[in-house]
Amino acid sequence: MANYKMAESNSRVIPLEDKIFGISQRAKQMIQAEGANKVVNATIGSLLDDDGKLVILSSVVDVLKNLTPVDYADYAPIAGTPDFIQTVKKAAFGNYVPKAYTEAVATPGGTGAIRNTIQNYSKRGDQVLTSDWYWSPYSTIAQEIERSITTYTLFDEEGQFNISSFDSRVQELLQKQDGLVIIINTPAHNPTGYTMTLEDWDKIIASVKSAAKSGNKKITLLVDVAYLDFAGDPEEYRKFYPKLENLPDNILVVIAYSMSKGFTMYGMRSGAMICMTNDKEIADEFKVVCSFSCRGTWSNCTRASMAVLSNIYKDQELLDKVDAERETHCRMLVKRGKTFQKSAQDAGLKIVPFDSGFFVTVPCENAEEVGLELQKSGIFTVPIGKGIRVSVASISEERCKKLPAKILEAIKTI
Ligand code: PLP
Repeated sequence: MANYKMAESNSRVIPLEDKIFGISQRAKQMIQAEGANKVVNATIGSLLDDDGKLVILSSVVDVLKNLTPVDYADYAPIAGTPDFIQTVKKAAFGNYVPKAYTEAVATPGGTGAIRNTIQNYSKRGDQVLTSDWYWSPYSTIAQEIERSITTYTLFDEEGQFNISSFDSRVQELLQKQDGLVIIINTPAHNPTGYTMTLEDWDKIIASVKSAAKSGNKKITLLVDVAYLDFAGDPEEYRKFYPKLENLPDNILVVIAYSMSKGFTMYGMRSGAMICMTNDKEIADEFKVVCSFSCRGTWSNCTRASMAVLSNIYKDQELLDKVDAERETHCRMLVKRGKTFQKSAQDAGLKIVPFDSGFFVTVPCENAEEVGLELQKSGIFTVPIGKGIRVSVASISEERCKKLPAKILEAIKTI
């Protein structure tokens, strides 16, 4: 733990530099020095076109440009504008109509939803459960509020969802804690691209129901759907929602919804936390406690982005336009992922079970060294402990095809 001159570390482990940012910077420097055609920057967590430019939904930009001055300038209510609160549920659920009480609170992206869920549904010192492959900011968020992340093993030997690891960790943690927040990032999980199947969901639900049976433990299932609209068919990827209905009152579902990817509004910091419960009082309480957390952290969120979403959903033609535009880009992304997967298979490179999304993960020993070896030939990836993460969102299909053989070569060299 660092000994700061003035700052207090407060039990946090704070790196000097953000790892992904650091590698990405090196990639950019190499592009400057040697040209873009010599460098493969597969570190970036945003969707880029084949020329390396950020994909931006022009239909969304048009809505943004037509906002009123008040939309830009005025404060939004703490929990979000009433229009947004209604609309964001539609955006998250699509055609699915939850048979549950749902309440929504606006948050700055999915990140804010994750933060507020951990803050309100765990105690200081608690451990929060997620899979062993996970998005590292979960740990940052947990540490910031004096919690920590612990993991179960996502896959068994056959590459199937490892329900027995999940189940035993849930049981073990509930022996020590009164409650448990479980983060499930699906569909198109970051960093593996895995999507929980409906059968996986059945197993998860059976496990948490059994753990909650005594009635004196509280479980919160935090479903992080950051990549929901870039996984593939929107209806297909929402089919898991009914699995979250009719749970006992001591199991709360919170959906962490993000506008960052789905509406290419990464920088506008907008999203929401949406609860699903059979108990109206629990839903009302959700609204109160989460609004309190908003007030005590970022206060309110960007009104303009709320207005954008509300305006899009008020106009069917506009919504169709946004959906159609997104679909084109989504198809490009899915193709890149499938190309990488196929090419890895052909080359004999093992990848972590993948379905779709921004990232593919290659399991390997000495990931840091493999990452550095790849950099020698201008390939930048992110080493993440037990493997390297490749962003198919930021490289062309052509490069997705060529990369697996090069990664295999680097692994063999180390
Ligand atoms: N969850 C995962 C797994 C992510 O990868 C991201 C963004 O990269 C987020 C949540 C939240 O992003 P934002 O706060 O921009 O909505």
